[in-house]
Amino acid sequence: MLVATILAAQCTDERVNEVTATLFQKYQTPQDFAKADTATLAAELKPTGFYQQKTQTVQMVCQTLVERFGGKVPHTMEELTSIPGIARKTANVVLNCCFNIPSGIIVDTHVARVSQRLGLSEARNPDRIERDLMDLVPSDAWTFWGPAVVMHGRYTCKAKLPECDRCIFLDFCPQNGVETSSTKPKAMTPPEEISSLTRSIENQIPSTSISQGGKIQHKVADSVSSSSSAIDLFHSQSWKTALKDEIQKPYFRELLEFVNLERQTQAVFPPPAEMFTALELTPIDRVKVVILGQDPYHDEGQAHGLSFSVKRGVKLPPSLRNIFTELAQELNIVPAKHGDLTHWARQGVLLLNAVLTVRAHQPNSHKDKGWERFTDAIIQAVSQQQPHVVFVLWGRYAQQKAKLIDDQKHTIIKSAHPSPLSASNGFFGSRPFSKINDALNQAQQTELDWSLPAS
Ligand code: SF4
Repeated sequence: MLVATILAAQCTDERVNEVTATLFQKYQTPQDFAKADTATLAAELKPTGFYQQKTQTVQMVCQTLVERFGGKVPHTMEELTSIPGIARKTANVVLNCCFNIPSGIIVDTHVARVSQRLGLSEARNPDRIERDLMDLVPSDAWTFWGPAVVMHGRYTCKAKLPECDRCIFLDFCPQNGVETSSTKPKAMTPPEEISSLTRSIENQIPSTSISQGGKIQHKVADSVSSSSSAIDLFHSQSWKTALKDEIQKPYFRELLEFVNLERQTQAVFPPPAEMFTALELTPIDRVKVVILGQDPYHDEGQAHGLSFSVKRGVKLPPSLRNIFTELAQELNIVPAKHGDLTHWARQGVLLLNAVLTVRAHQPNSHKDKGWERFTDAIIQAVSQQQPHVVFVLWGRYAQQKAKLIDDQKHTIIKSAHPSPLSASNGFFGSRPFSKINDALNQAQQTELDWSLPAS
């Protein structure tokens, strides 16, 4: 389980099971892994991705087991987390699932999301979420609670489009942060109700470590998001294909590790499950318009992975207010009472920021960490693969991206940025929404409906 959990980082369970089916026949003890030829082991682990780090981590962990624990996996949280490369979440997976020891509660991205929706924790840091859950859930239920909620999050309370209508918690879940047509229940969740979940253990929650120069650094990427591979987050098959090579590059792994580490000590927006909302809502083969932003909103609850957009119930930021003002003046569309632009995204408007995460209250704090390279690749992929797209470049920063776009094939619309600093100097009156629809018409594509649902 320990080795499988390490291999599960940034990889699907199915792939891990494929690899371990033969791996565990060949290597049956920690000694076997520790003394294995590194190049051979790396080749065997390659299908799980990030195989060089995983090889080093597996060998380092197994070497530690041999040297300090007589080749056995220790049975306490303190001992397990003293092994470089093993953090609390991985330790809980091993102790809960292998030894049935209630060391704590596994908190991965699914447990974090479900706990927030059920009103069990408002925290974002996994350790704090775990503490909240340990206060609520009886300790004799801890070992099944985490794995069961992982399954619930994976198959029912999904990040996008949770299936509330068929959820066993519907009657008492406050559905925090969920947009649903289901009847919204009122009561908070009593812990004893949680235990009605089917006992079911499948998921293994990975943690990763980083090895440089042969020395394992104690840089354990054990935040909530580390258990979600990029592939898992791109549900759209078209993005998976378009970005397949990009997400294998070392800088992208380092970028995700940077974000994971940030999340351990800082509030980072948007939450892990919403980092890639733009890609999720607008598959590359449906992109008709790209509206480029720069940086996610940095205040609590604003950013949800779409440029310029905020979640319902959040006060409209000034730039978005100006966008709605222009929309009203240009097309006589009454501004919605919310700033959620999901309706545009679903019609084919890729609402893409250049940088996809930010530290709370520190604008541009994740600039130059790798996101720009990744989002440039997204722009180039759209330019190369789509027959005709309207690229909307508001402000000088977005306009620098024009060089990534084939202007012989696509339409580029430029104007001042809608920010209050520049809206009166070229954004108001620029009529971007009519221009977009004119360009779509000329390319014989369907116009967009710029109105937003009232609620
Ligand atoms: S009712 Fe909806 S939000 Fe609440 S736990 Fe079930 S699926 Fe998740």
